[in-house]
Amino acid sequence: MPIKFEILAEDKVTRARAGLLHTPHGVIETPVFMPVGTGGTVKGMTQDELEALGVQILLGNTYHLYLRPGHELIREAGGLHRFMSWPHPILTDSGGFQVMSLKSLGRVTEDGVWFRSHLDGSSHFLSPERTVEIQLALGSDIMMCLDECVEYPASHETLGRAVSLTTRWAKRAKEALARDTGCGTRDAGDGTRDSGRGNRGAGLEVGDSGAETETTHPESQITDPRSRTPCPVSRVPCPVLFGIVQGGTDKELRRQSAEELLDLDFEGYAVGGLAVGEPKSEMYDTAQFTAELLPRDRPRYLMGVGTPEDLLEGVARGIDMFDCVMPTRNARNACAFTSEGKVILKNARYARDDGPLDPSCTCAVCRRYSRRYLRHLFVTGEMLGAILATHHNLHFYLDTMRRIRQSLLSGEFAEFHCRVRARP
Ligand SMILES: [Zn+2]
Repeated sequence: MPIKFEILAEDKVTRARAGLLHTPHGVIETPVFMPVGTGGTVKGMTQDELEALGVQILLGNTYHLYLRPGHELIREAGGLHRFMSWPHPILTDSGGFQVMSLKSLGRVTEDGVWFRSHLDGSSHFLSPERTVEIQLALGSDIMMCLDECVEYPASHETLGRAVSLTTRWAKRAKEALARDTGCGTRDAGDGTRDSGRGNRGAGLEVGDSGAETETTHPESQITDPRSRTPCPVSRVPCPVLFGIVQGGTDKELRRQSAEELLDLDFEGYAVGGLAVGEPKSEMYDTAQFTAELLPRDRPRYLMGVGTPEDLLEGVARGIDMFDCVMPTRNARNACAFTSEGKVILKNARYARDDGPLDPSCTCAVCRRYSRRYLRHLFVTGEMLGAILATHHNLHFYLDTMRRIRQSLLSGEFAEFHCRVRARP
């Protein structure tokens, strides 16, 4: 099997859980925050620094890597892991979100989506099959299906069409992966699999139902992810494909989307189409509603979310994986996340502030530099300002997630959740 997801602890009060996600390039402790390495780099950070911060998995953007340097060039380099010297897990998106968020540049058809490069205006086409092909060339550990993400607000009809198209594309992506690699060819929708909705013990392997036929690789039936035969296409053990549940904040459509994707039997499921402008209460409500529809024994990924508070609230609602550009993008714009809230480092009030960025933070930046100095770097446009703020913000996000996970493992998540929420 491509990946194994173990649940180590579940909170008795909320939906939160802690686990281990085994991938071809290493084990990820969940819940996990994935920094965004858009074009083969987390802006401003070296790979050594990311490792020292405890980053376990990076997100790569297929859209950007496809345009520059091009997936074939990355394939030639031995895949994205080798190209960027990141020997740890990588998740890649399908590229669809970027294409569609470029609005006038994208056009959605039944076959896929046409778009023009934001770099030179050249015309390109992404289909479910093409995104699988590109992500295989990148050598991703966890690949995402092409989905249609619609803007908020959208009509029931528009959302419904997007849900149906997302299901048809998910089926095509899964078939393409099986055809291109022989990976993930377990029978879909045969009705033999246990949905795992709350009736299975912890520590189960993904796809460990003895009743089903399982094919991990055409030349191998090895089930230990550390000893599997390399995939003939990506040259690493078979990658996995996650389905993406759509439906906006419409619960009826969320249920339809989840049920249709469950029939296709993915190794993990993402909640997409949130954090696109809906009120936060609706985002949390929809995330919880959707997470409850998904199998207990599969990882759940809330895409593009969010603030440190969102991580805590997402975990409480049963989410295992998160990604967001916020810690890195905000850092470059002089905005730091701290235990006392956001700090805008260009603010004149910090001109004579000798205190650390966050008095409660143990990161290398807070141990060494003053707010006064950080403000100076941003005001004068020194690149070190963005680098230091990025380091701190990523540390803050990863540390937040570590503390969440620790509280889950020690059975104190509910208290931790209440304590953090009660902060002014
Ligand atoms: Zn810090």
